[in-house]
Amino acid sequence: YRDKEFSHTKTMLERFHALFGLRKFRSNQKEAIDCALERRYHLFVLMPTGGGKSLCYQLPAVLDPGITFVVSPLRSLILDQTQKLLSLGIPCAALTGDRTPAEVSAIYAQCYAPKPKLKLVYITPEKIGQSDQLNKLFSHLYDNNNLARFVVDEAHCISDWGHDFRPDYVKIGILRDRYPRIPFILLTATATPRVQRDMLHQMKLDRHISKLFIQSFNRSNLVYKCFLKGKTDGALARTAQLCLSEQFVGLCGIVYCFSRAECEKSAAYLTNIGVTAQAYHAGLIDQERTDVQTRWANDEYQVICATIAFGMGIDKPNVRFVIHLSMPKSIEGYYQESGRAGRDGEQAYCYLFYSYQDFIKTKRLIMAEQSANATNEAKKVRIHNLHCVYAYCLNNVDCRRTLLLEYFGEQYLSSQCKKYTETRCDNCCNVAETKLVDFTVCAKHVISLVDQLTKQFKSATINQVIDILKGSKQRAIIDAGLDKLEQFNIAEEVSRNSLERLLSKLILDGYLHQDISINDAYGTVTAYIRVGKTNMLSTPITLSVCTKKENSNA
Ligand code: ADP
Ligand code: ZN
Repeated sequence: YRDKEFSHTKTMLERFHALFGLRKFRSNQKEAIDCALERRYHLFVLMPTGGGKSLCYQLPAVLDPGITFVVSPLRSLILDQTQKLLSLGIPCAALTGDRTPAEVSAIYAQCYAPKPKLKLVYITPEKIGQSDQLNKLFSHLYDNNNLARFVVDEAHCISDWGHDFRPDYVKIGILRDRYPRIPFILLTATATPRVQRDMLHQMKLDRHISKLFIQSFNRSNLVYKCFLKGKTDGALARTAQLCLSEQFVGLCGIVYCFSRAECEKSAAYLTNIGVTAQAYHAGLIDQERTDVQTRWANDEYQVICATIAFGMGIDKPNVRFVIHLSMPKSIEGYYQESGRAGRDGEQAYCYLFYSYQDFIKTKRLIMAEQSANATNEAKKVRIHNLHCVYAYCLNNVDCRRTLLLEYFGEQYLSSQCKKYTETRCDNCCNVAETKLVDFTVCAKHVISLVDQLTKQFKSATINQVIDILKGSKQRAIIDAGLDKLEQFNIAEEVSRNSLERLLSKLILDGYLHQDISINDAYGTVTAYIRVGKTNMLSTPITLSVCTKKENSNA
C-alpha cells in the first residue's frame, strides 16, 4: 500500500511539474489535491482570489480516470480556463450557450467514446436539470465509471446569503441527490461563515463526509484606505491626480464606478488629462468587452473604469491600484474587487471614496428594485450588507484588515498590520491618535432629539440632527427655531465623523429607523430617521474616536 501511495504522489508531482510547469505548491494546494485523489471526501476549498484554486481540481482531473464536470457561472471565466488548459495540452471542452449544434454534438461524441480522452468539461449552471441530453450523458458516464467528479466554481453563488446569489446554482443540488457517491469539490474566494454553512447545507455536505481547506485571507501587500468624498466630482479629480502622480503614473489600475454613466464620464475625464482610460460595463456588446479585456491584458490601457461586471476571471498580475469612486455593495464584494490589485504579490493600493449621499442612493436603488430576485428577504440582506460597508468606511479607528477579515470569520490581530512598514492600513497609521469614548449620554440626546423632531416637524434627517447637535447657525436651522431645542449645540466638540458613526451604529442596532424617500420631480434622495422599536438604550454605547484633526487623511 505504501508503494502504491508513493507512486501516486510521484505521478502527481510529475504532472504538476511537467504538465502545469509549476515548481512549488502554494498554501493548501497539495493538501487539497491529495485529499481529492483519495476520493473519500468532498472538498470545500476557500482561498483568496489568485490563490490557485483551479489547480486543486485540474490536477486531480488529469490524474483520475473519467471526466470531471466543472460548473462555472460565466462564459468569460470558462473561456479563460479552457484556453489555459488547452495551451497546456489538457483535453477539455466547454458546453456553453454560444456553441453551435455541430460543436455540441462533437463534444457529446467525445464524451460517449468508450474511453473518453476528454478530462474536463465546463458547463454553465442553467443547463443542469434542464437538458435531457446532459442528464443522459451523466448517467451513461456514471454507469461506465467514467464520471470522475463534479466541481463547483464560485460556489458562494449557491447561497442567497452571499453577495452574488444565482438561482441557477441551486439546481446543482440535483446532481448531489442523483450521484451521491461522486465526489464534489466546491471552490470559492468569498464566503462568510454564514454563507459557508449555508453552502454546505444546501449541498448536503455534512462535516463527516467533507474536508474544508480554508486559508487566511489577509493580503499583506495591499494598502487599504478610505476617504470621505468632498464636493461633487472631488473623488474623480483626486483619482485623476493619483493616476498622474509619481506613485501611479504609467501603472495599471481599476476604477470602480457606480453606474455605466459614471464609467463613461470617468473614462472621458481621465482620457482628457492624458491617462489612457477605457470604460467597461454591461452596456458594451460581447465583442467590445473581449476587446477591452485583451487590450487591458496587453497593458494598452492604464486604467479601466468599470462597474462590478469587470474582473471576474481576469487574472492580471500587475494591477497597482483599485479605486472605488463609489461604495461597494458589500464587504465581501469589496474584498474581492480590491483584491484584484497586487496579484503578483507586489505592493498595491486600495482606495475607497464614500459619502452619505452615495450610501442612501444605493440603499434606495436596492429598495426600488423589482425583479424575481428582489424579494423582501433578499433586499433586507443587501441593505444590511450596505450598512456594513458604510460602517466600515466611517470607522476611522479599527484596523481595516481586522474589519475586512472579520467577515470571513477570521480573527486578525491589528498588531500584525501595525508591524508592516509599507502596507499598514490608514487606521493603523493613525493609531497614536485614537481613544475610546463613552457616547451613551450623547446617544440618549440623539434619540430624544429624533423623537422630538418627528413629533414636532413630522420628520428628521441625519444631517439635520448632526447640525443641531453641533449648533449649526444655518438659516434653515435658525428659521425653524431649532436652535431653541435643548439638544442644540450639546456636541459642539464632537466631530461630524464621530456623530455620523454614532447615528449609523444606532441605526444598525435598531434604536433608530431609516426611511428613504425620493423626490420624483428632482430625483433627490432623502433618508428620514425616526425612533426605533425601543427608545431606551439597553447597553452603553462606546466608540473609538480619532483625536487627529478630522478628515486630514482625505
Ligand atoms: P483562483 O482561481 O484561486 O483565483 P487561479 O487558479 O486562477 O486562482 O490561479 C491564479 C494564478 O496563480 C494562475 O496564473 C496560476 O497559474 C497561478 N498558480 C496557481 N498555482 C500556482 C503554483 N503552485 N505556483 C505558481 N503559480 C501558481
Ligand atoms: Zn491595520
